[in-house]
Amino acid sequence: MTDAADLTARLIRCPSVTPEEGGALVLLGDMLAAAGFELHRVDRNGTPNLFARWGAKGARSFGFNGHTDVVPPGDLGSWTHPPFSGHVEGGLIWGRGATDMKSGVAAFAAAAIDFVTETPPDGAVILAITGDEEGLGRDGTLALLDWMEAEGERMDVCIVGEPSNPELMGEMMKIGRRGSITFRIVAKGVQGHAAYPHRAKNPLHALTRYLAALIAAPLDEGTAHFDPSGLQITSIDCGNPASNVIPERATAVVNIRFNDLHDGDSLTRDLTARAEAVSAETGVGITLTPELSGDAFLTQPGPFVDLVRDVVAAETGIVPVLSTSGGTSDARFVKNHCPVVEFGLVGHFMHQVDERVPVEQVHQLKRIYRRILERYFA
Ligand SMILES: [Zn+2]
Repeated sequence: MTDAADLTARLIRCPSVTPEEGGALVLLGDMLAAAGFELHRVDRNGTPNLFARWGAKGARSFGFNGHTDVVPPGDLGSWTHPPFSGHVEGGLIWGRGATDMKSGVAAFAAAAIDFVTETPPDGAVILAITGDEEGLGRDGTLALLDWMEAEGERMDVCIVGEPSNPELMGEMMKIGRRGSITFRIVAKGVQGHAAYPHRAKNPLHALTRYLAALIAAPLDEGTAHFDPSGLQITSIDCGNPASNVIPERATAVVNIRFNDLHDGDSLTRDLTARAEAVSAETGVGITLTPELSGDAFLTQPGPFVDLVRDVVAAETGIVPVLSTSGGTSDARFVKNHCPVVEFGLVGHFMHQVDERVPVEQVHQLKRIYRRILERYFA
């Protein structure tokens, strides 16, 4: 039996703040290799990634995806136990990554090792583990998927083991995510004296008119599996110290979390057209630079989603809600490879000081992953 809680504590002791490997992937690789997994380090541009497969290449396969990197601990003095101590006390494992998500990686690695050792399946189990999810992520799971594509490696389905439950184990699994896009907006007018506005073009008036129109009406009413899209103005800046000067330039930032009625291109077209209309009315040029984090996606409910939901319900006594809420995750990349769902621990302490996880929850998550594997290959 592989002890997922002990493995969690040992992984926490690897100081793998993005993009440092910190020994985490080496530790996992050694355990997986000992259990008969074939390993490939898929490092790209200095980002460490680990691909591990038990079973034959090309066989029917079940995949897990997760990350061993963690966000920085912040002020060390604020922690009850040092963030990389992996301190275990009172039924809790303490440290950075305890919930997000060394415990999730430990749970699926332990479940996979025990499963292939005790009940070898007719198929393959694949672990695609990255050392960069918390950073830009360009050379993390994306690099693994690019490498798999080039090598002819395939997962038929995949679970991303990110924390998915808000408060209670079993209450939520994610079958998709909203998309996210940020627009950096620049309004450029003509500087002038506040007493002689006819000789100036005030970019703040044009910008606020534009922004007010953006928030005046909702983008949509939501769809079958998604909440309504949300638009937030996250910054308005002009940096003008003088009260009697109309500034030349003003900027704003808008972030949109959007459902499956939109994509990055459609939102860019819409917001650009509206900017051009305000520019035409005011003579102030309004330009947008879009930064797309990811489009919305949905894994359609079906046999795979049912299997995960049924096992979670059997193990926790709670039927999980099929959700698309929350921020982005690497599922946004995996969805281009195969059907993907996210199920993991309770995310309550993610990125917080004194991040910690109940030992029993880690064992429970391992039992869930093990049962999912058994059902999938039954
Ligand atoms: Zn995470």
